[in-house]
Amino acid sequence: MAVLTTNQPAPLEQSQRRIDEMTQALRDAGQRITPQRLAVLKILAKSSEHPSVERIYEQVVSEFPTTSLATVYKTLTLLKSLDQVLELGFAHWGSRYDGRSPNPHPHAVCQRCGAIADPDLPQAEEMAQEMARRSGYRIDRHQLDFFGLCPACRKKI
Ligand SMILES: [Zn+2]
Ligand SMILES: [Zn+2]
Repeated sequence: MAVLTTNQPAPLEQSQRRIDEMTQALRDAGQRITPQRLAVLKILAKSSEHPSVERIYEQVVSEFPTTSLATVYKTLTLLKSLDQVLELGFAHWGSRYDGRSPNPHPHAVCQRCGAIADPDLPQAEEMAQEMARRSGYRIDRHQLDFFGLCPACRKKI
């Protein structure tokens, strides 16, 4: 699993690798890579902000004005079913997406501005294994969120 530091833009080759992986996964699933879809993949591969579907849509529409929100949703649903994007569900804000690092990993979430960070926390994998051992469940994924204030919001109080 790739380790990315907090809120740093992904290095170029890392973004390109993710675009290639997502494109290949869609092709393998018999899906066409339309320019709109490719635009969604690029945003997902480059964005460090864990964008919402609306945020992705805004950016795609600026390049392809005829794109519908449904197209963005469908692409995300497809990528999710192929384990190529991580969906973070929040009761408050709805879903946010991580296409840079699609394997489950812990997140720090700012309750004030909604920023989401990806600090490296290798113990999370051990926790998942321990959970499997203790519960007898087969653990397929996990969502581990830590809520608080991001450094920028902390400076404002
Ligand atoms: Zn914040
Ligand atoms: Zn993430």
